[in-house]
Amino acid sequence: MSFQLNGKNAVVTGGSSGIGLATVELLIAEGANVAWCGRDEKRLSDSKAMILSRYPNATVLTAVCNVLDKAEVQQFADQVQKEFGGIDILINNAGQGRVSNFDTTEDQDWLKEIELKYFSVLHPIKAFLPALKKSDCGSITNVNSLLALQPEPHMIATSSARAALLNLTHSLAHEFAQYSIRVNSILLGMVESAQWKRRFETRSDLEQSWEEWIGNIAKKRGIPMARLGKPEEPARALVFLASPMASYTTGSTIDVSGGFNKHL
Ligand code: NDP
Repeated sequence: MSFQLNGKNAVVTGGSSGIGLATVELLIAEGANVAWCGRDEKRLSDSKAMILSRYPNATVLTAVCNVLDKAEVQQFADQVQKEFGGIDILINNAGQGRVSNFDTTEDQDWLKEIELKYFSVLHPIKAFLPALKKSDCGSITNVNSLLALQPEPHMIATSSARAALLNLTHSLAHEFAQYSIRVNSILLGMVESAQWKRRFETRSDLEQSWEEWIGNIAKKRGIPMARLGKPEEPARALVFLASPMASYTTGSTIDVSGGFNKHL
């Protein structure tokens, strides 16, 4: 079975690390041409060098671009259009979570979190939509979190903004069906990535190794599969939803949480 991605043009925001980078790699392995962005130039060029060392014949494009900067996102879209000649797949992955409860979330933190969750998706969609409308298999896939349905008090702002993103994703699926563009999302539990590495650096017990630390998180949080996910695992769900293999699926979600999902 193939994802039918040979020669398709894909864009992954936040493709220089973690889940985004694993998604870039899988798309390329499946024959797609892939453009990705991130804010840090060095991280971006390292990711490009890594991909080209593994796939020397791949067609790739990278751009330093903050998805919250509308003008930069438009420039990125123009560059992709110029070099690839069109786009079939947009994967909105760029972002991060905020650890804070009601007491420790200031007004500006709420605004920042809402801006990140909405505009990291809205700016790329606005910029890439004209090209997606011309594709015969256009798709938009948003990386979301299980927090959208299962809020956590210690991530209060992220949880509520994630719920809004899930709602938005479903509205877009309905509106864009007229253009034959499918819109879906994945709901993540906890997945090993740079975000978790950053939290690991600030752990209280410096004696703990990475394996012990993530093992303890999985145990403490009661993840039924008793481990965090690997970036390749959500990447596979993203690539499936984004690909023509999911041609009759829109307004849908795939849960990638190792069974952490407790709702029906
Ligand atoms: P990483 O930190 O490993 O990757 C995040 C990527 O996004 C990097 O390439 C980063 O590059 C880029 N990025 C972040 N902000 C921006 C921005 N404003 N503009 C452009 N690029 C940006 O984290 P993950 O792989 O874990 O995160 C991927 C997505 O999954 C995020 O949206 C995150 O919130 C979500 N998620 C992850 C979970 C997990 O457990 N890992 C759980 C739930 C959701 P740079 O910093 O150079 O810009």
